[in-house]
Amino acid sequence: APGGNVRVVVRVRGFLPREIERGAECLIEMNPNNQATTLLVPNDSDPANSRSKTRKVIEEKVFTFDNSFWSHDKKDEHYAHQEDVYNCLGEEFLDHNFEGYHTCIFAYGQTGSGKSYTMMGTPDQPGLIPRTCEDLFQRIEAAHNETPNISYNVRVSYFEVYNEHVRDLLVPVNPNQPPYYLKIRESPTEGPYIKDLTDAPVKNISEIMRHMKIGDASRTTASTKMNDTSSRSHSVFTIMLKQIHHDMDTDETTERMARIRLVDLAGSERAKATEATGARLREGSNINKSLTTLGRVIAALADPKQQRPGKRSKDVVPYRDSILTWLLKDSLGGNSKTAMIACIAPSDYDETLSTLRYADQAKRIRTRAIVNQDHVS
Ligand code: ADP
Ligand code: MG
Repeated sequence: APGGNVRVVVRVRGFLPREIERGAECLIEMNPNNQATTLLVPNDSDPANSRSKTRKVIEEKVFTFDNSFWSHDKKDEHYAHQEDVYNCLGEEFLDHNFEGYHTCIFAYGQTGSGKSYTMMGTPDQPGLIPRTCEDLFQRIEAAHNETPNISYNVRVSYFEVYNEHVRDLLVPVNPNQPPYYLKIRESPTEGPYIKDLTDAPVKNISEIMRHMKIGDASRTTASTKMNDTSSRSHSVFTIMLKQIHHDMDTDETTERMARIRLVDLAGSERAKATEATGARLREGSNINKSLTTLGRVIAALADPKQQRPGKRSKDVVPYRDSILTWLLKDSLGGNSKTAMIACIAPSDYDETLSTLRYADQAKRIRTRAIVNQDHVS
């Protein structure tokens, strides 16, 4: 049958110095045999988790995901390194891209839970994005010898959504000019797209890494100026892979297009805070609009039966209510193989419960990926 469920994995990080300082306890257990993640009841001694008046019933919760990555204790034999996350998820998704499918992997979780570490990583511990780039060009180079009748074309773009504005991360920030925002257009065939977004051709690993670094630096430069933008912005790294296959016998040419989307979402705690206080500040509500809408889109896709009878699902899923969900429409409920990485901190009961519930709901979403292939001549 066409279509498959969104793949949902969870990853827990180790303690940060501030958590060790406050004597935080690890509330997460993962069972390597059945991929179950258990959230334990916190001990009252940790002030960050002292039982609030609003939390009447507190109990142990068990969730099962496609993978549970234990990255809490480096000494543990089950410790999931960056390489393990890539081998378990990134590599398989890149296989799909070479088959001609679009894919999307997005990281969700509160600020400081390990989203950027998982997606981008550090120079010593590269994450999914640099590993995907490297593997992609290794495969292309290997293919040059094995299948000389296939040629490849790779392009890359990198943008962020901040406060419902789209900023091109591949255009250097000019400190003397106001930030330049791009507009969204919708094409009847291609769907929503960003007008004038840099779409850079890349020929090898060093070129794509250079663009990745320029974009990442651009994100960081802006964030030091604008009060921690990076935790409030969504960044989307996209690779377009085109394979041109020439059949020597029939003289026919076919093209396969695959879009690889790697998304580092804004911190999930922001959305909740706004909902709770009903903040009406223009900036505040806009910052959260994409994330709160993402929650509504996921809820609508996960439980289509909640929709009013007689209405088709595409009319009800509120993709167009925010910039991010509008742009990621295909990845969320359409032509894409999609995965969500729920990143969790080891000792925050409330935030972790909310992330695990969100991830649990995402498991029910089905997408319909097709091979994107065209006869050219
Ligand atoms: P987020 O992007 O979700 O706000 P970060 O990725 O910046 O969070 O992670 C917060 C801190 O935790 C960073 O210092 C990061 O290096 C560290 N960290 C996160 N996940 C891991 C991990 N699996 N192993 C080691 N350090 C991690
Ligand atoms: Mg981050």
